[in-house]
Amino acid sequence: MVKKIAHLGIVVRSLDEAVSFYEKVLGLTCSGREEVRDQKVRVAFFACGETRIELIEPVSPDSPVAQFLARRGEGLHHVAFETEDIEAQLRLAKAQGCVVLDEKPREGAGGAKIAFLHPKSTHGVLTEFCGK
Ligand code: ZN
Repeated sequence: MVKKIAHLGIVVRSLDEAVSFYEKVLGLTCSGREEVRDQKVRVAFFACGETRIELIEPVSPDSPVAQFLARRGEGLHHVAFETEDIEAQLRLAKAQGCVVLDEKPREGAGGAKIAFLHPKSTHGVLTEFCGK
């Protein structure tokens, strides 16, 4: 049901410094930046094969991502899997006892349908489903 890793979300202190690393050291090209107001973050995107890298910088201390950064420092924040049928994927996860952070898919960046599973029920990784 899951087709591929859609993107990796990586929390950084400074978007500008992290973008520079991905461009200069890894040779990737930043394909865009976006501010996601309800999460109080700025995001920069890189294509890497079929997978995207999303660098996430909190822009306010009360951003949920700022709390993650304060507790755990920079690093991998979530793994997003692309799925054909996000509703069915979410139902399956719930039926298997996963703790869902979104009871129903909601709208994410770029208009995609997304839903998150809590890391305590996914062996430690905040897991995102992305609809097509
Ligand atoms: Zn994501």
